[in-house]
Amino acid sequence: MQDDRISIQHNPDPAGIARTPQDFLRQLDGPTLIVVDGEDNDRCRALSTLLHGNELSGLRALHGWLRRGERPRVRMLLFILSVSTALADPLFSHRQLPGERDINRCFRPPFGDRPGRVAEQLLELLEEYKPECMIDIHNTTGMNPAFGVATHEDPAHEALVALFTRRLIITDIRLGALMEISRPEFPVVTIECGGNRDPAADRLAVQGVLRYLQQDEVLQLPAAGLHLDLYHHPVRLELSPETEIRFADEPDPDADITVPRHLERYNFGQVGAGTFLFWLGPRGRSRLRLRDASGAMCCRNTSTASATASMRPSRSSFSWSPTIP
Ligand SMILES: [Zn+2]
Repeated sequence: MQDDRISIQHNPDPAGIARTPQDFLRQLDGPTLIVVDGEDNDRCRALSTLLHGNELSGLRALHGWLRRGERPRVRMLLFILSVSTALADPLFSHRQLPGERDINRCFRPPFGDRPGRVAEQLLELLEEYKPECMIDIHNTTGMNPAFGVATHEDPAHEALVALFTRRLIITDIRLGALMEISRPEFPVVTIECGGNRDPAADRLAVQGVLRYLQQDEVLQLPAAGLHLDLYHHPVRLELSPETEIRFADEPDPDADITVPRHLERYNFGQVGAGTFLFWLGPRGRSRLRLRDASGAMCCRNTSTASATASMRPSRSSFSWSPTIP
């Protein structure tokens, strides 16, 4: 397996594709681009999935579609990159390989390490094929509704997200994620299909991928308009690498942060000021960092009130959505 080179396959024979997603991945020679010719090969679209080895909804949708041998509307570039990560033991449990960078933080220089070299090749292949747009499909780790993330707010980005979901986060935070290469003439969006163990996320991926593959136009909103829930200017709550974190229903005295199991119920909900979120140990507050687009350290002013109390946002309420595309 050449693990830092992207292998390219053209129009794979559906009969030769293994029956299960894991056996299909074992057939691939490391990071792979599958090019499937369409009805109109003057046009081209790109799709990426499995940047994270434990997020399978997009892979399952693509695998099922490739086995059916259907022809897409336009030529498709299907990127399946983190093959060795997904196949590392235990199967489908690693977001990235231990000791490596998250490849979805590598789509900007420097490209010197293995995930960086793979990311750089993807960018070169996009330059070569010049697709009209790109979708990058992920899952969240916890239970979530589906949502899209984009760096631009315009009808083309909204139309791409609306193939899958009606929730869209417009982010101005820059991390080196694939969607950050988006520009008005080449829209790129992230789709978070829902939780990585949620069958509903798999179904949503199948339906959205089919629309993306089959529709003649994917960059225009319907003439009658569309209702989208838009979320602007997200902030990231980051933990320093040495943080001791526990998931438990009562505070762990050895932990910096103890997260109650019910925290997921706030996902995409409104959280009022004073709402209990998690317990902080003596060093807990110093482990937290709230980051916005400017990279500001805003945690100190938003007062994590005491060791046993909740994070209190500075505004009267905020929307809670664990977004890690
Ligand atoms: Zn992901």
